[in-house]
Amino acid sequence: MKIYADNAATTKMSRKAIDTMIPYMEEIYGNPSSLYETGQRAKEALESAREEVAAVINASPQEIFFTSGGSEADNQALRSAAAFGAKKGKKHIISSAFEHHAILHTLNRLEKEGFEVTLLPVHENGIILPQELEAAIRDDTCLVTIMTANNEIGTIQPIKEIGEICKKHGVLFHTDAVQAMGHLHVDVKEWNVDMLSASAHKFHGPKGVGFLYARKGIVLTNLIEGGAQEKGKRAGTENVPGIMSMAAALKEAAEGIDKNMAHQSALRDRLIRGLSEIPHSALNGDQKKRLPGNVNFCFEGIEGESLLLLLDDKGICASSGSACTSGSLDPSHVLLAIGRVHDVAHGSLRLTLGEDITEEEVDYMIKSVKEVVEYLRSFSPVWRDLMAGKTPFIL
Ligand SMILES: *Cc1c(COP(=O)(O)O)cnc(C)c1O
Repeated sequence: MKIYADNAATTKMSRKAIDTMIPYMEEIYGNPSSLYETGQRAKEALESAREEVAAVINASPQEIFFTSGGSEADNQALRSAAAFGAKKGKKHIISSAFEHHAILHTLNRLEKEGFEVTLLPVHENGIILPQELEAAIRDDTCLVTIMTANNEIGTIQPIKEIGEICKKHGVLFHTDAVQAMGHLHVDVKEWNVDMLSASAHKFHGPKGVGFLYARKGIVLTNLIEGGAQEKGKRAGTENVPGIMSMAAALKEAAEGIDKNMAHQSALRDRLIRGLSEIPHSALNGDQKKRLPGNVNFCFEGIEGESLLLLLDDKGICASSGSACTSGSLDPSHVLLAIGRVHDVAHGSLRLTLGEDITEEEVDYMIKSVKEVVEYLRSFSPVWRDLMAGKTPFIL
């Protein structure tokens, strides 16, 4: 059996998303800034994609800025809020300890440029407390940036409450919705968000394309200077095939969202139940307030990397921590943020299900993980010490 269970890293493009691209490479390949017919047709198509994307998140088309993906949208949102804040002498930013590196590394840069950053704790369940956010807001706070759902443990944040608090205090609010888009209902008005980031390859669109929503009235700072594309806020000839494909993928995801959420969360819960039977294991993050396809476990006494290699032999594509951190020996900052100690955090496994996941596949994953964990423990010196009582069990 072959199972792709790493949909938080990237997703397979949908047939519709692939088919949508082709005419914009073969026929309507003109530059949207050109005045002749094929250019103008590309321009019209681009504006129709903007309308489609806007409609899905309850925004207006003028509030959508196409980017090269989630990282760029995150960088631009933070840079824009920082520039706006600096002008008013407000140089304090609030975020959380388990954001994506596109946020955390940009915040590090901003700190070097004189900004002060408060990272809120995400607690054991992987969710921030709105009252702690409110208490952290100061007179000089210019931005709150909190992700909608975490990419490793899938936990969903109280975005609507955060939006209300930010509005009440007159602080800009950005959310990295890369993991949520296409998988949860997103409504920028209901949530009171000022800026939001998304990326096509996380919802069955192509890689290298995404968008930033910026509420009317927000002044964006350019990361890329050049031509007047995207209202002068993001220079460079638009990735028309990618953008068209992204819009088609998003529309498709939005149409199937209720059905997919119900199907995936039922199988997610089955997978969680099955893996919980493994002794000295623990689910990471809240059991219910998590993405419909996210399962993340820690198993004591084993190494996540070996687990992945052996699962690969069984045809299962999984992840330990995030793709960006695997390859380094540092345990995931997300698992540390929810209080897992280093040794336990090293033995983590993330399985992120696709919309087409079946019960049979879930049962195969449960069986395979059980076998692999047992096998790895059979010759793990850490496990031997735990069993001999030389070191205490944590899980
Ligand atoms: C994948 C991801 C990103 C980065 O998006 P890219 O399009 O790959 O740059 C940012 N934030 C989160 C939460 C993600 O999961």
